[in-house]
Amino acid sequence: MSVDYDVIVIGAGIAGLSAAATLQRGGKRTLLLEGHNVPGGAATSFVRGRFEFEVSLHQLGGIGGPGPLRAVLDEMDAMRKLQFVEDDELYRTVVPGILDVTVPADWQGAVEVIDAHYPGNRTKLTRFLEIVREVGLWQLAARANLHKMKEQAEWLSGLPNVRRYGLRSYRQVLDEFFVDERVKFVLSSYWSYNGQLPSRMSFMDMSRLLTIFMETKPYQIIGGSQALSSAMLDSFLAAGGEARFNTSAEKILTRSGTVTGVRLDSGESVASKLVVSNAPSLSTYRRMLDPADVPASVLRDLRSRRLGPSVALLYLGLDAPAADLGLTSATNFLTADLDERSVARGMRSLEPTPFLLASCYDIKPTGFAPVGASQVVLASMQYAAPWEALSDEEYAEAKTTFADSQLNLLKAIAPGVRDVIEEAEVATPLTIKRYLSQPGGSIYGFDQDVTDSWLFREDDLKPSVPGLFLIGNWTTAGGYQSAIVTAARLCKRLLAT
Ligand SMILES: Cc1cc2nc3c(=O)[nH]c(=O)nc-3n(C[C@H](O)[C@H](O)[C@H](O)COP(=O)(O)OP(=O)(O)OC[C@H]3O[C@@H](n4cnc5c(N)ncnc54)[C@H](O)[C@@H]3O)c2cc1C
Repeated sequence: MSVDYDVIVIGAGIAGLSAAATLQRGGKRTLLLEGHNVPGGAATSFVRGRFEFEVSLHQLGGIGGPGPLRAVLDEMDAMRKLQFVEDDELYRTVVPGILDVTVPADWQGAVEVIDAHYPGNRTKLTRFLEIVREVGLWQLAARANLHKMKEQAEWLSGLPNVRRYGLRSYRQVLDEFFVDERVKFVLSSYWSYNGQLPSRMSFMDMSRLLTIFMETKPYQIIGGSQALSSAMLDSFLAAGGEARFNTSAEKILTRSGTVTGVRLDSGESVASKLVVSNAPSLSTYRRMLDPADVPASVLRDLRSRRLGPSVALLYLGLDAPAADLGLTSATNFLTADLDERSVARGMRSLEPTPFLLASCYDIKPTGFAPVGASQVVLASMQYAAPWEALSDEEYAEAKTTFADSQLNLLKAIAPGVRDVIEEAEVATPLTIKRYLSQPGGSIYGFDQDVTDSWLFREDDLKPSVPGLFLIGNWTTAGGYQSAIVTAARLCKRLLAT
């Protein structure tokens, strides 16, 4: 075996970068391995013509106030290298011919706006959002202290709303408070940020999402998520870390069931008693380890999980400023009707899409599009299965037809977009599966519905294979804040042991 490291981190997604920077800065000699030629995994950008496209980040929470993400980025000295632009609103949500509401990113403002659209709900809205905030803040604090679950249980007993509502579906709690379906719809629009529709997402998970964005505001990053990834890599390298790109980990090596190092795709073996894997748990356990080293309980657990949703995307470079197109908000949710069953069906079929998130990165310029132009990304949540069933020819056609249906839905807020398309790139669940090596192209890891969330699973300091720790999408709630913060927390605890 070649040189010895204190830790090897497999994968330079945002979780791997966060782990590597935390460990190296904490004094561990760390090797970071990445199969691709750039850092970031999903947190990156690509160039077409005169546009640089953001791959994945729609809104970043956790920046505009004290909170764990800001603290982690500060500690690794990445924060001061980044510039952020605050979105003016939380989101605009539109059901053509039925509703069009722009929700501000503050609790009282949201009450005012929703009550102005649907009078008579003020008291209930105020009470509902108070509970959302209480439960959301509890979850954020609880996740920081999962290793002290006993104390959490005692604390929980003093929070009746967490006990009463936390594990019910978001939809059930909405039904308890409101009669008007439009009010419920407006309050549910962030469902796609966790990939679960309101009847399947736990109240506590939606509360966490809303609380993060209301309390710390939604932001864009100048230079996009690639700037964030590069800032974390710089922090790692500046502390003396070593990164190897275009280098995949093929095998995690063990002796008597305990980790001893990693074999690379070049055939070289590198020694280390500690491996932190940012690769999906399915490939870490099923492909990279010797089956004899994986406890039956882990395999059973993996079999019990379902792959989470992926997404079909249309990246558009437009030869017109956002304002000329009628776009007023950075984040726009468009849905064909109020019935969530339509969206549930749409996520598992290639029918014209009933839902999309349209992100415009130039409401306040982020530098992605040239002056006078704009970048819009249309994202529709989709499971991979219908795409996987297609032949090559059918696939090429389905991509165009699906993108066309996204443009049709977009017409409701930006009717002139088709006339100014300069660049268009389609990505499907299969693209994400191929480029990011994510099973099912899943963007948040396993399906995390009300029966199967982080609360029942996250147990990060008890490795199933001695010396191996897992981070990232497949071990936590998914999303930027969660991936970065959870990886840093785990590594800090490793440093302390
Ligand atoms: C299109 C899209 C839109 C999204 N929108 C949002 C959003 O708006 N807000 C939000 O919070 N989240 C969003 N997400 C989710 C968010 O991007 C992810 O939760 C997060 O980036 C996951 O980070 P990660 O480090 O766990 O995984 P990844 O980004 O997948 O990184 C894993 C890395 O490990 C590398 N790797 C894997 N196996 C090996 C190996 N054997 N050897 C070496 N390297 C390996 C991969 O190449 C990759 O670089 C989106 C994701 C996508 C794809």
